[in-house]
Amino acid sequence: MKIVILKFGGTSVGSIEKIKKVAEIIEEYKKKNYKIIVVSSAMSGVTNELIKKSKGISKNFSDAEYDVLVSSGEQVACSLIAGRLIHKGFKSRSWLAWQIPILTKGPHKNSKIHLVNKKKISDYLKEGGIPIITGFQGANKEGRVTTIGRGGSDASAIVLAKFFKAKRCVIYTDVEGVYTTDPNKLKKAKKIKIISYEEMLEMASLGAKVMQPVSIQDARLNRIEVEVKSSFVKKPGTLITKRSNIKNDKIITGISTTYNDSKISLVGVKDKPGVAAAIFRPLSKNSINVDMVVQNISANGKETDLTFTIKTEDLNKTKKIIKENKRINFRKLLLKKGVAKISIIGVGMISTPGVTYKMFQALANKRINIQVISTSEIKISVLIDKKNVKKALEVLHKEFKLDK
Ligand code: ASP
Ligand code: MG
Repeated sequence: MKIVILKFGGTSVGSIEKIKKVAEIIEEYKKKNYKIIVVSSAMSGVTNELIKKSKGISKNFSDAEYDVLVSSGEQVACSLIAGRLIHKGFKSRSWLAWQIPILTKGPHKNSKIHLVNKKKISDYLKEGGIPIITGFQGANKEGRVTTIGRGGSDASAIVLAKFFKAKRCVIYTDVEGVYTTDPNKLKKAKKIKIISYEEMLEMASLGAKVMQPVSIQDARLNRIEVEVKSSFVKKPGTLITKRSNIKNDKIITGISTTYNDSKISLVGVKDKPGVAAAIFRPLSKNSINVDMVVQNISANGKETDLTFTIKTEDLNKTKKIIKENKRINFRKLLLKKGVAKISIIGVGMISTPGVTYKMFQALANKRINIQVISTSEIKISVLIDKKNVKKALEVLHKEFKLDK
């Protein structure tokens, strides 16, 4: 049985006209003799509206009721898709997560799917039906409705692909695929034809919003090929697959940027064991996400400087925590808003020497100062002044031949 999972995002089912278009896409797969499992998100904007309503009722709206409320958007979208397919003469029906059931564990609002009961859906597929399944929802062992976190219908689709052993999951959205960098920031950005899970994971974690990072990790672990494409235009999208399927000569696959970063430096910190831990422990306890970290070597062996970055929205809280931290001593605290992180990503850098140098030289040629550097196996990130981001993007995009 050739099973394919088709997932439609909020914008793809954003209006009646768009839902009719979705039914046409499903019809095309049906003609090619696929067994199709459809997963849908809520019509765009609906989930936000529902959340607003809950806030109008109470500032402490019950988490369990939140799940019942916000998951209802998916129910509407699924029944409309199924209704359109029935109208066209196909056998189709909507399935709410609890009817299957898709079982979750963990707290309301943020549950995780751990089991999908396949029986009913498999039978329905054998009868030639097209099941339209609500993304984002689940049910817990008490039989209550749960949700799996905002944007969760990607994860639902990948989990269904895993349980039904689908070779491919197609994520339909409002963009044509994954781009070398944000096309809104750089006109020359190009659609990437094929990208590895690892690269996609870095791109998504660093702000490319096409897919939720957790779902990419899940696809990687289960070797599910994911195709991201637009439901509005008929063009090939981006294929996310394993590294060995990719043959290309590019060192870098994409460039990502984050804008709302702040830099914090503690000057003159005692250079002894336990100090870094004493600084970061209260930050982590307060859910402040520390990103890049550098510590200078101390010239005299007694004192050192420590610099790290956080999201600007956490700046005031971070400042307060550091000032109130009795376990650390430092001479000066420097805070700087308006910094940006720019990262080049590509598995090609593993086997190519000199990539770091190339990046730094390209930035230097444009007189862009690098403030902090961090690297991983397939990524090099630098912190720069926010006002230089556009220039940096342009020069790096060109340097690594992504313009072509
Ligand atoms: N409708 C849900 C949300 O807006 C789930 C999703 O879109 O994936 O978060
Ligand atoms: Mg969505």
